[in-house]
Amino acid sequence: MATGLELRVPADVERVVDRLIDAGYDAYVVGGSVRDALRGVDPHDWDVTTNAKPDEIQSVFKRSLYNNRFGTVAVRSGDHEVEVTTYRVETEYTDHRRPDAVAFGASLEEDLARRDFTMNAMAFRPARGGKPAELIDPFGGRSDLDARLLRAVGDPDERFREDALRMLRAVRFAALLDLRIDPPTAAAIRRNAALTETLSGERIQQEMVKMLGAERPSAALRMLSELGILAVICPELEECRQTPQDKAAAQDVFEHSLATVDATPRGDLVLRLAGLFHDIGKPDTFADGHFHQHEFVGEQKARRILRRWKLDRETVQEVAHLIRHHMFWYQTDWTGSAVRRFIRKVGLETIPALFALRRADNVGSGARSPRMYALDALWRRVREEIDAANAFSLRDLAIDGNDLMRELAIPQGPEVGRILNALFERVLDDPGLNERETLLALARELR
Ligand code: ATP
Ligand code: MG
Repeated sequence: MATGLELRVPADVERVVDRLIDAGYDAYVVGGSVRDALRGVDPHDWDVTTNAKPDEIQSVFKRSLYNNRFGTVAVRSGDHEVEVTTYRVETEYTDHRRPDAVAFGASLEEDLARRDFTMNAMAFRPARGGKPAELIDPFGGRSDLDARLLRAVGDPDERFREDALRMLRAVRFAALLDLRIDPPTAAAIRRNAALTETLSGERIQQEMVKMLGAERPSAALRMLSELGILAVICPELEECRQTPQDKAAAQDVFEHSLATVDATPRGDLVLRLAGLFHDIGKPDTFADGHFHQHEFVGEQKARRILRRWKLDRETVQEVAHLIRHHMFWYQTDWTGSAVRRFIRKVGLETIPALFALRRADNVGSGARSPRMYALDALWRRVREEIDAANAFSLRDLAIDGNDLMRELAIPQGPEVGRILNALFERVLDDPGLNERETLLALARELR
């Protein structure tokens, strides 16, 4: 293909291609980086493919790093890290999730043919020494991209049977890049969706996290459900389609969950997961029509889902904690002590996220009356308590266990904890007591 390409490659990346060509090899920018560059978006990583073998690549780039597992050589060039990979062919897949072996391919065409979607199966060589820039696009990726069409390379059934992750990638790309999935490709996903069962939690997590990073994750989630993938990777959420959100509304729990995720801040994975799963306990607690204790059932279910997807412990913990507490309520006649006890129960550091979740939950409930009118009123009162620097946990007390043991001459043991807790209860009622001498005097009485 001739010049006139609206495709810009950073000089750092061009230099990597040039040096390989100077050394007598073929080399092209390839894959997602070509797709993104054509879309006018800066790719977050640049890939180069070449007929040079890994040891040959390494002898061209002396300080490169060879990653044996991925067969990739990482080359540092200026501000860019470029992943250089030898042409490959796909070998047999027996488990629908990874090739039995990575084999080097003879040609660029073979390398492009093993890639997943037409828009990801293009290669680009920048202009060089009078030769114009060249786009190698054997599967029509550029015109698909222009037509906003996501299409599998080759026979879609075969490609999804080789690697079931491609079905999640299809949804992720379609949702994030706003593409339509070509009907034969979509039909093949429906036929093969059950194969996503074999995917590792880590790979599912990677795709889900990317989908949740969309401006509005609902598009991807709805697509996952409609294509039959959600029922396999997250039956707990799929099941919510059968559960009405409440007696009055036409909305089901699934649609409510999606509307809630969309209303959480982009870039906050914990809040997005909490928004998605906050009502996941509802199908189990529907019997009484009140979803009694669904927040506790939901917390447990969310933990299981997130562990299955191998999310880190801290994320799982934070999401579970938010779900557990998301049903908090407030009445305007609460005393200061009640507000402080609420802060203690939820934990000071969780308060902002918990309110953000409830706000999203309210937005997700639609035009109907917000579940809690007084949310802003409670928020103001919580802020007042926090600004007054009151004590919300044992750590905030003016004395600690060591002070007690020394001043009261008592040994280490449960007695110390009992007195500290009793003091803390008194301080929650009356923050004015939180002074060293006052607390020590009280402690003597409490012995
Ligand atoms: P992004 O980096 O934005 O997530 P990407 O398309 O660059 O998207 P990568 O995982 O970086 O995705 O992969 C780079 C390229 O490798 C892809 O563009 C595609 O050509 C190929 N590729 C990646 N994963 C697969 C797969 N599971 N099956 C076939 N080809 C794949
Ligand atoms: Mg990439």
